[in-house]
Amino acid sequence: MTPEPTLPLTGLYIHIPFCRAKCPYCDFYSLTNLSAINDYIRALITELNLRRCVAHCADTIYLGGGTPSVLAPQQIGRILDCVYRNFSIAADAEVTLEVNPGTVSRGNLKDYQSIGINRLNIGLQSICDNTLLFLGRIHSARQGVDTYNWSREVGFENVGLDLMYAIPGRNRSHWEAELTDVIRMEPEHLSCYSLTIEAGTPIADRVDKGEIHPLDEKTAGDLFSLTNACLNSNNYDQYEISNFARRTAVVGIDRRSRHNRKYWKLAPYLGFGPAAHSYQQNERWWNHRSLDRYLSDLTMQKMPVADREILNRDQQIIEFIYLGLRQTDGIDTKAFALRFGTGLYDMFGPVLESLSNEKLVESYPGRIRLTERGMRFHESVIGRVLC
Ligand code: SF4
Repeated sequence: MTPEPTLPLTGLYIHIPFCRAKCPYCDFYSLTNLSAINDYIRALITELNLRRCVAHCADTIYLGGGTPSVLAPQQIGRILDCVYRNFSIAADAEVTLEVNPGTVSRGNLKDYQSIGINRLNIGLQSICDNTLLFLGRIHSARQGVDTYNWSREVGFENVGLDLMYAIPGRNRSHWEAELTDVIRMEPEHLSCYSLTIEAGTPIADRVDKGEIHPLDEKTAGDLFSLTNACLNSNNYDQYEISNFARRTAVVGIDRRSRHNRKYWKLAPYLGFGPAAHSYQQNERWWNHRSLDRYLSDLTMQKMPVADREILNRDQQIIEFIYLGLRQTDGIDTKAFALRFGTGLYDMFGPVLESLSNEKLVESYPGRIRLTERGMRFHESVIGRVLC
């Protein structure tokens, strides 16, 4: 469907809640029983049909999970066809597929490209077999590197890699060497996440039993600083706490994730699939997390929405600050004043001044942002602003 050029922009997120195996650190909603995939695609197509909307123009489509690449290209193609039938999609839309090594072949990647995927995000996590074993990933380092190389061979020009650091048993020089090797691969985008122990996961149980000792805050913070320094001196710009885009001299090319920036900028997006969230004009709503409930609602042609909330002014301020400070360009103080009818410093002057004295935040014309040190302790710094 060709969009009107003046339509307001939105992003579309499509959740694929299936994985080959559950990684022991993961608390995302995903299932390892793949036998429901066909039923799921039918339900998803019903949801897309029910929510048909041509009042916005989608300039991003993001297929995330879970592991979207457990779906064959022809299955992803059916979903995309339905998206294009029901929504106005920008001609230059960023169309991302999350891919996990061990679930794709070179041929699949070529087919994903031929159905319109123009950006891949590969869940590499590590190129060290011991780390992958510790993380319970289904793939080897070789498979990860092969997946990346195949993506280039078939012609993808925009590829992001996910990496994890602060892994128990791995030291600073291990991480530095690994990061250096990944930089040599020259992906357009890198997301580097410190391993977080999520309550209720198998890895949290092992921590409770004393079998695993997570890195202390200082060591993890040092690795965060090392990551930033290493990437910044190797042609990558940090634009969010965990996200880095490769610099390019070509005008008009921006390797930051257009889709993920919508979340951080509080821009509108629509989410489809179990547990998917949507946001538009200060209203947020989310689908049932259970696949069974999602399937049964859609069998009855009923929207699978679990709940919705309208954010009040205080909640909007909290989100604006929380998300603004996660980004390296920080908070636009003029935009804050325009949106909330009062200045940021009028509301938070004393705490911002004290954080500035501690060199945790810094101001520059029209903006305020976290310093590198502030980013290292971002949860507690943002908590101090918002408490
Ligand atoms: S592949 Fe990703 S979504 Fe699936 S269990 Fe592992 S970390 Fe979670």
